[in-house]
Amino acid sequence: MEKQGFRIAVFKGDGIGPEIMAPTIEVLKQLSNSADSFSLSFETLPAGALCFEKTGCDLPKESVQAAKQCDAILLSAMGLPHIRKPDGTELVPQIDLRLELDLFAGVRPVFTFANGPQVLSDPQAANLDFVLIRESTEGMFAHRDEGEVVNNEYATEKLRITRAVSEKLFDFSFRLAQKRAKQLNRPAKLMCVDKANVFRSFWFFREIFNERAAHFSDVETSAMYVDAAAMKMVQSPWDLDVLVTENMFGDILSDLGAGLMGSLGLAPSADIGIDHAVFQPCHGSAPDIAGQGVANPLAMMLSAAMMLDYLADKKQCPEASELSQKLHNAATTAATQPNGRGHDIGGSAGTESIARCIVDNL
Ligand code: ATP
Repeated sequence: MEKQGFRIAVFKGDGIGPEIMAPTIEVLKQLSNSADSFSLSFETLPAGALCFEKTGCDLPKESVQAAKQCDAILLSAMGLPHIRKPDGTELVPQIDLRLELDLFAGVRPVFTFANGPQVLSDPQAANLDFVLIRESTEGMFAHRDEGEVVNNEYATEKLRITRAVSEKLFDFSFRLAQKRAKQLNRPAKLMCVDKANVFRSFWFFREIFNERAAHFSDVETSAMYVDAAAMKMVQSPWDLDVLVTENMFGDILSDLGAGLMGSLGLAPSADIGIDHAVFQPCHGSAPDIAGQGVANPLAMMLSAAMMLDYLADKKQCPEASELSQKLHNAATTAATQPNGRGHDIGGSAGTESIARCIVDNL
């Protein structure tokens, strides 16, 4: 059988980025070698705070162009607090990339697993499994360079929600709810999280959600205000399935989700658009632990597993989905083993040891 070749763009990033990316590429190469129906090739591209320090640009056009030619993009973490733009803000090329590539759907899975870290004491919290979808190109982030502090008296920011992006976001979310329902053999559910009781923009968002719901009659829908949803995520997150929300709310709730998993070092994510997708851990470049060999590579590995699942759907390659599941299981199992339990989840294993543990589990 002729193998399909998938090209992966790689942004190694800053801080702990290169430390968690290196073992992840090694694991992916191993999976690629073992696959019958596909192979992976990798192209490393410059971007990030160190790139800015060296060249004056944190996201070179050539890197974006090259990434667009690839089938998927792996990104570790970018930005460093001591390297800033002239206006004092930090460099966030990963956000620019989301806007540049129209990656409107930020997929943030939240899960716990047997013998893994468990933050909530209720026994039902031992097997959490829900997905938060964060719109990733609009909201206040769409105008983030236009905020103003006027006469040192008041500050304003703008927020944008468009019909076009919201429709794409909701359709993506309904389809993900359908896919999960099929995989988990249970009814499909989708909840819209907003603040429609106070802001017109979110009322508009909710109305579009209800309009799109009419096209997915097999999906049970509900809606919740973001404050109530935050409480629900702590009080009874085991009832949740798929949630969809706007950018800023999603930014905050996804860290709450990572908190429920026990550590940012475990939380993977994907930013998906119609033509492109970026897979990266939820955490940042963690400069406080960079260079010490203690960064947990699990979130990066689990993001790579999400990438394989994306390629499976995009390229109709079932084996990529099987290997995605295999990598997911090997990584979560590592978190339960002495050699794979990182400092961030109460263990003592370093990056290398955790990576070796995952390879052994595979
Ligand atoms: P950003 O704003 O770029 O998302 P942040 O301010 O949220 O970054 P992170 O870099 O995500 O900060 O780090 C937050 C905390 O979590 C730090 O104490 C960091 O050391 C820890 N942390 C983050 N990622 C990991 C990891 N992979 N392994 C272990 N600890 C981590």
